[in-house]
Amino acid sequence: MARAIYPGTFDPVTNGHLDIVERASHAVDHLTIGVVEISSKRTMFNLDERIEMFAEAVANLSNVSVQSYSGLTVNAAREIGASVIVRGLRITSDFEYESEMALMNRRMAGDVETICLFSALEYQILSSSRVKEVAALGADVSDLVPKNVLRPLVERLEERREK
Ligand code: ADP
Repeated sequence: MARAIYPGTFDPVTNGHLDIVERASHAVDHLTIGVVEISSKRTMFNLDERIEMFAEAVANLSNVSVQSYSGLTVNAAREIGASVIVRGLRITSDFEYESEMALMNRRMAGDVETICLFSALEYQILSSSRVKEVAALGADVSDLVPKNVLRPLVERLEERREK
């Protein structure tokens, strides 16, 4: 296996995402984390913030890089020379969506294969949206997100509360 892309919104990156990246990085030569460009009206963190937080969290992984992309994931994969799309699967929530997406991507690009890694047991119920939801209500999320994400998350929630 050569290059792979791990696409997502990562708003913000969680320890579940990080676990997928660490495990996938052992299986490929190079892993590009593809942070999708979407309107910052729909996200808590803008594109640069989402990239920066992920890049900081994976700084210790030498064969992992982070970049933005827009449009179809299969096009981004081809542009960077990735033959594999990596996705993470939580048992109860992801199978239907991920399998439909994988089949659609294969229909568009038969040369790009989707490989799903099962989420670790401790991250099965972890998602960016759940983290934001419970953190906004005052929960301690320090064991759910990388260390460098905690401060920006708390600050952004405070900014929103003040508005
Ligand atoms: P998207 O907007 O593409 O769903 P996300 O940032 O939510 O982007 O997730 C990116 C990928 O990471 C998806 O494949 C998703 O299923 C996976 N993922 C999200 N949370 C976890 C987790 N806790 N454990 C494993 N994989 C996860």
